[in-house]
This record gives sequence, structure tokens and C-alpha cells, in this order.
Amino acid sequence: MPELPEVETVCLALSKILNNSRVNNVKITRKDLRWNIKENLETCLKEKILKKPFRRGKYILIPTSEKHILLIHLGMSGTIKIISGEYNISKHDHVKINIETKENKFFSLVYNDPRRFGYVDFFHVNRIENHFLLKKLGVEPLQNDFTIHYLQKKISKKSKCVKNFIMDQSIIAGIGNIYASEILHRANINPLRAVNNLNTEQLKSIIEATKFILKKSIKVGGTTIKNHMQPDGKLGYFAQKLQVYGKNKHNCNKCNNIITQINISNRSTYFCNNCQK
Ligand SMILES: [Zn+2]
Repeated sequence: MPELPEVETVCLALSKILNNSRVNNVKITRKDLRWNIKENLETCLKEKILKKPFRRGKYILIPTSEKHILLIHLGMSGTIKIISGEYNISKHDHVKINIETKENKFFSLVYNDPRRFGYVDFFHVNRIENHFLLKKLGVEPLQNDFTIHYLQKKISKKSKCVKNFIMDQSIIAGIGNIYASEILHRANINPLRAVNNLNTEQLKSIIEATKFILKKSIKVGGTTIKNHMQPDGKLGYFAQKLQVYGKNKHNCNKCNNIITQINISNRSTYFCNNCQK
């Protein structure tokens, strides 16, 4: 599932194309994603100007010239394809947006999602604060308000395990299952620890590890963008240099101990029981 760094990478790639580009037409081949796409999306978007996208949590938000927002969520398996010129719909392509850039170049933006857990929405910018997917999102982990004070405020009511805590989108927006394991390994904290038992130093190390892991991954994603015009043009995933996720039975890169795999809330979780206390 694409997490914050993957979504940020998609935004970055889109911003190279969507910089006052005009929508020539929109084709929806399948409406029933996680929620149904609005009936009028095609007509609402047509002939609108799309501006540079930005990210909130795991959501891609594309402002239009007429104070609307096009929201794209990649869900579990969604990708965006940026194809130069015309493009014929293929399997699992649900939305195709044909655009013309300021430089009169033509592109097709295609939303592809085999499992259909993603979503595409369009709404007035006034509704951004109250949009059902956005209104409960917690702090952006790469911004300055992700602080010890913020975490302590959120912890007082919570006794859940630290892994579920950092994956809770209403607390920190954008961290999913893969990066949660990576962050806790870097912070030397066992994913099963009750979050209200962590001391200030440990909370500090979670903040440091979160910013470090996410920034490093965004950098890796950025280097893959120049290849986004590959024949399939797919964006949404890139090869990450992971330290623990999926590395069960491998050696920990810090201490050489064997990495353990467990399930927390039915999600695979990887950690080193020697380094992570
Ligand atoms: Zn270790």
C-alpha cells in the first residue's frame, strides 16, 4: 500500500505535468471504487485548469483554477500512469484524464487500481477541512508541529501498542505498515510496547526516526521519477531500501540478531528483539 513517501513521489511527478494544464476530457470506465465516484466528475473536470498537486497524509490533492480540488487516494493497489499522447484503456484502468500542458503537450493521466480500495473525488475548496477523508487526519510528520508535546497530548488517552499508535492516521498522517516497522527499528523500540509507557527520550527517538525514514524514502522516490515515462508509466511504488520490513530470518543490520516476524492487528510486523526494547 502506498504510504507517505510513495504519495509524495507521485505528487512530485504530477507537478511536472500539472502546472496549469487544461483538462480536455475525462473518461470513467468504472465508478465503484472504495466509494462510488461522483456521477458528474467527467463534466465537472472538463476544460478546468489543473494546478500543482500537494499531499495530505496519503491523499493527492490537485487544485483547479475554479477553487475545486481533485482528490486521489491510491488505496491498497492504486497507481497513476502518466502517458505521453493518446492512450488506450487497459485492464484495471478506471479513470483517464486527457490534459494539455501550457507548452501544448498532451498527456493521459490514468488511475489504475486492481483491488479498487482507492478513491477519486472532486469538491469545492471550502469543503477541504470537512471532507470525510481529510477532517480527522492528524499531524503531518514532516512538519514542525510533529513534536514531543503533540505526541504526549495524544498519548494521555491511549494505551495501545506503539506500532498501532504511529499508524493511526488521526494521530500521524501518512505512516502505514511498512514504514512503521522501519521507524521503530531505527528508534530501537519494540512495536508491542504500550505507547503510554514510553519515556520522553523514546518519544524523541520516534520523531527523529520518523522524519529520517520518510525523508530518506522520498529522496529514493525522487530519483525514480525521471524514469516515469517508461512504457507502463506507472507511479505509486518504488524499490525501497528497507532494513527490517519483509526481512524475517535475515540478520539485523545493527546487531546481527535474527529479525522476528509477528502479527499485530493482522498486519505483518518485523523487528529485532535484541535492539528493540
Ligand atoms: Zn538488532
